Amino acid sequence: MMYGKPSPRKSDFGKILGFFILVLVISTTVFLKIYFYNASNSLNKPNKPLSSANAALNNNRSESLDQLNPTKTSAGPIKVVYELPEKQPVVYITIDDGWYPNEEVIKLMQQYHLPITTFLIEQAAQKHPDFWNEFLKSGGHIEDHTFSHPYLTHLSVTDQKNQISQPIDYLRQIGSPPDELRPPYGDFNSEVGQEAHDSGIKYIVMWDAEMENSKFTTRNALGLKAGDIILLHWVPGLDKELIELLNIIQNQNLGIADLTQALNGEPLTICWLKKPIPVPKPKATTSTGTSKIKTTKTSNTQETSTTTTGAFTIP
Ligand SMILES: [Zn+2]
Repeated sequence: MMYGKPSPRKSDFGKILGFFILVLVISTTVFLKIYFYNASNSLNKPNKPLSSANAALNNNRSESLDQLNPTKTSAGPIKVVYELPEKQPVVYITIDDGWYPNEEVIKLMQQYHLPITTFLIEQAAQKHPDFWNEFLKSGGHIEDHTFSHPYLTHLSVTDQKNQISQPIDYLRQIGSPPDELRPPYGDFNSEVGQEAHDSGIKYIVMWDAEMENSKFTTRNALGLKAGDIILLHWVPGLDKELIELLNIIQNQNLGIADLTQALNGEPLTICWLKKPIPVPKPKATTSTGTSKIKTTKTSNTQETSTTTTGAFTIP
C-alpha cells in the first residue's frame, strides 16, 4: 500500500513551500537589518553628503549671505530675525559651528568684554566641553545649531525634532539652555518652526552681514549699519578675522551688544571700542585654531561697557 509515502505532487508542493518560507525569512532579515541600521544612524548622518562636519573641517563656511531669502519672515509659530531694529547704534556678533575652538577669541572676549553668541553644533560641542565652559564664563551665549548640521527641511518631522531638541538637552546640562535656533545653511520652513517651537525655541536667528576670509559683506551691500546680525564661523584664524571685524565696527562708531538681551527686550550691555585693535600677523595662527600670538597689551583696552536701560523690543 502507498499510505506511508507522500505522493510526488505533495512532495513538490512541500519543496516549493519550503523555498518560499526560506526566501521570506531571508528578505525579512535583510529588511530589518537595513531598517535598524538607518534608524540608529538617523541622528548621526546629515541627509546631504556629510555636508556639515566635513565642510566645516575643510575650513568652508557652512552658512553664507548667498543662502538668505529675507522674504521668509516666519516659520510657523516662530519669529525669524535677520537683523534687529536700529534703535541703538549697535551690531551683534554671531559665530557658527564650533569645530575649531580658538583661545585667542576667548582672550578678546575677556579683554574687551565682548558679547558674542555662538550657534554650536552639538557634535562639535562634545569634542571640546572645557573650551565651551570657558566661553560661557567669558560672557558668551551658546545657542542651538542642531546635533549634526543637516538640511532640516530634508528630514522627517521626527528627525527634525531630534536634531533641534537634543542639543537643547545637552546645553541645559552645561548651564546654558538655548532659546534661539540657527538652522544649518539657513534652511527652514514652517515644519521646522513648529518643531523648534515645541522644543522651546523662541527665535530663528538668521544674519544680514558676514565676515568671510577677512572679507566683510552685508546683505544689501550698503555697509555696516546699526542692528546688523553679523555671521562668522569657528575656523582657523578666526581671532584675526574677529579683530578685523571689530575695527570695522569701531570705525563706524558702532557698539557691540548682546543678541540675547536684545531679543528678549532686556537692557543692553554694550561694548564700545575707542581705538582700533592691532591685527595679528596671519602666520601667527595655527591650523588647530589655537593661536600662538601674544595678546594685545592691556594699554590697548580702550573699551567701555555700559548698560542701556532703554531696551527695545522686536517688532
Ligand atoms: Zn553651520
